[in-house]
Amino acid sequence: MADLQRMDKAELIRLLKLNQELLATNERDEKQQLHDLQTHQIELELQNRDLREAQQALEEARDRYADLYDFAPVGYLTLDQKGIILESNLTAAILLGRDRTQLTGKPLVTLLERGESTMLFHHLREALTNTGTFVTWLKFPGADGLRILRLESKADVEPGHCRTALLDVTEQRLADRRRRLTEQVFDYALEGIMVTGPDQTIEWVNPAFETTTGYSAREAVGQTPVLLHSGHHDSDFYRRMWSELKENGFWKGEIWNRRKDSEIYPEWLNISSIRDDAGDIEHYLGIFADISSQHHLKERLHKLAYYDGLTGLPNRGLFTDRLDRALAHARRDNQRVALLFLDLDHFKHINDSLGHRIGDDLLTAVADRLKIGVREGDTVARLGGDEFVILLPGQETSLGALEVAHKIKDLLSEVIKMGEHELLVTSSIGIALYPDDGEEGESLLQHADAAMYRAKEKGRNRCQTYSKLMSDGANRRLSLEQELRIAVRDHEFTLAYQPQVDAAEGRLLGLEALARWPREGKEPVGPDEFIPLAEETGLIEPLGQWALHTACTQAQAWYNKGLQLGSIAVNFSGHQLCREGFEQQITDTLIETGLDPKALELEITESVLMDGYPNAPSALSALNEMGIAIAMDDFGTGYSSLAYLKRLPIQRLKIDRSFIMDIPEDKDDIAITMTIIAMARHLGLEVIAEGIETEAQRDFLLQQGCRAMQGYFFSRPLPADEIEKLLLNPPNRWRTAP
Ligand code: C2E
Ligand code: MG
Ligand code: MG
Repeated sequence: MADLQRMDKAELIRLLKLNQELLATNERDEKQQLHDLQTHQIELELQNRDLREAQQALEEARDRYADLYDFAPVGYLTLDQKGIILESNLTAAILLGRDRTQLTGKPLVTLLERGESTMLFHHLREALTNTGTFVTWLKFPGADGLRILRLESKADVEPGHCRTALLDVTEQRLADRRRRLTEQVFDYALEGIMVTGPDQTIEWVNPAFETTTGYSAREAVGQTPVLLHSGHHDSDFYRRMWSELKENGFWKGEIWNRRKDSEIYPEWLNISSIRDDAGDIEHYLGIFADISSQHHLKERLHKLAYYDGLTGLPNRGLFTDRLDRALAHARRDNQRVALLFLDLDHFKHINDSLGHRIGDDLLTAVADRLKIGVREGDTVARLGGDEFVILLPGQETSLGALEVAHKIKDLLSEVIKMGEHELLVTSSIGIALYPDDGEEGESLLQHADAAMYRAKEKGRNRCQTYSKLMSDGANRRLSLEQELRIAVRDHEFTLAYQPQVDAAEGRLLGLEALARWPREGKEPVGPDEFIPLAEETGLIEPLGQWALHTACTQAQAWYNKGLQLGSIAVNFSGHQLCREGFEQQITDTLIETGLDPKALELEITESVLMDGYPNAPSALSALNEMGIAIAMDDFGTGYSSLAYLKRLPIQRLKIDRSFIMDIPEDKDDIAITMTIIAMARHLGLEVIAEGIETEAQRDFLLQQGCRAMQGYFFSRPLPADEIEKLLLNPPNRWRTAP
């Protein structure tokens, strides 16, 4: 039989046939039975062999299936309806981070991330009650962080069981999230983003690209960035950009592009090249920000920093810069530079009387005229207030600069129309020249300023070139100011008193108190110099208050001695008049010194009253009400109008010495003095003449009916002790010759 087994089927059949023939020929009948038996036996053998072979194949298949099941890339679980693991493959055990033997019998829910259990039970219910598969994603804690598994389950043939396939989708999920995030970043980025191919063909743009450039993605894709070229940069610029990009892998810088609506705008652009694994350029990534608003801001800041807000002219900073540059050029080219310092005459007047709005409009109009008056390349700037400077580079001589200055002065003095007002402004211009009057910008500016001051002193509305003497004056002023400050603090002043006389009767009317600065051992400085300085520096307030107090004390002392001195006149500055609480200060002084207010006269100069003290009338009224008399000092020098004079609560006019000086020679002065006297009479004001030095002057005034006089003819201002002698013994010459 063993041999039989080794034979194949066909051979066996052949042998059988042979056998049959043998039987047929030899012992046909007897052997028929044996033959049948044998045949049956062989058939059984054959069946047996098939069975074994099939069984073996089945075993082999089962092994193969077990391997496939265990090592499948997908995890498999069999779960019951409560989620207890009945069976698992190796992959499932790995995915769930457990030994396979531990898994069986374990509820899957215990392996889940917290908060996921509801999802699992829902999943199982759905899978068990429906036909087909059901998919859910669940999170499982793992040794290296959370794992996201995809569960696909379907009901098993065994009722209440379900088969579940597990797939690890952690990476894919993370990648998805990253992709979505990137997409959102690109979509919501404020910067425009553009991706091109290596040939610069635009492949992708983001929404910010569309809003910034005005081109939709559809319009831009397929084009090249040339679409955005503004023509602002030359081909060299782009060549450099690309070569830098190739060399370093990136380029960044400011670039001017053109939007779809043709507007040209600046952007800050970063381009980087993206290479593939082989190192070949795959893409270019361009990210840009529209910086036009920063540019506008920069422009505005620049304007604010370098230009005057009112007139739009360069300010001091920019002017100094240009001056320095002009000087550097001039130094190199051996040229001259002229500097004009211009100040409007009586601008304060206009500001105070017509208001600051008109004042501002006037300054703007003046700025416009100045711009017309200069050439291109010259600079007009406003330093502040009504001060302007003009820089004229490339001058040959000082004459040229003087000519320009005159031209500007004339241009400004033409009527300026401002709404209903027609304004006439004049200006004073100082001129300094590089290198003649200064090597450096600062000294030139100072010297042009000093020259302008001189122009003012000379009567305004004029041009003045600088001379060294002016600076000496300015330096002296500076050191004098310091000394004055100390003198005021330490009360280094005294008062002199000058009699005011009724020349008809030879009677003393009063005394004017005049400040003196003794400065022992030093060069004398008179009130004509230190009073204006005190006015400018504000020192006049303490000085004036001191003078008032001292004069009142002295006068009261004389009254107490029974001396007849008439009234006491004290000079009072406009600054004091403006000071808040000045009335109280005067009241306090009167109370402290015990002086009768009727004995006090305050002298206020005409120019002060005219130079913009709008509150003067009411302030003076208040003094009047206290019983104090007011005299208008230096009358005739300050252009008061009759109307204004009438409005002021004053009792007396003091004719300025300058009109008396040349009497009786000067016919004009005679006429003016006669007019003032007549006018004062008309307005019901007393009148007193200052600076009477000669008999002729006295006689002329008496003839005109002016009896009150003051001057060297009667007495110089004297210290208090000498005045006392005079009061006791009035000189004969006070009396007119009989
Ligand atoms: P002012 O108030 O007009 O005083 C008259 C000035 O003329 C005084 O000059 C006086 O000395 C001078 N003077 C008087 N008679 C004659 C004369 O016949 N011939 C000449 N050539 N001059 C005469 P002074 O003392 O130099 O004062 C000058 C100015 O300084 C004063 O002019 C006054 O405006 C101011 N001043 C003086 N003291 C004070 C003060 O205490 N306070 C204020 N605010 N100003 C003062
Ligand atoms: Mg006076
Ligand atoms: Mg005077």
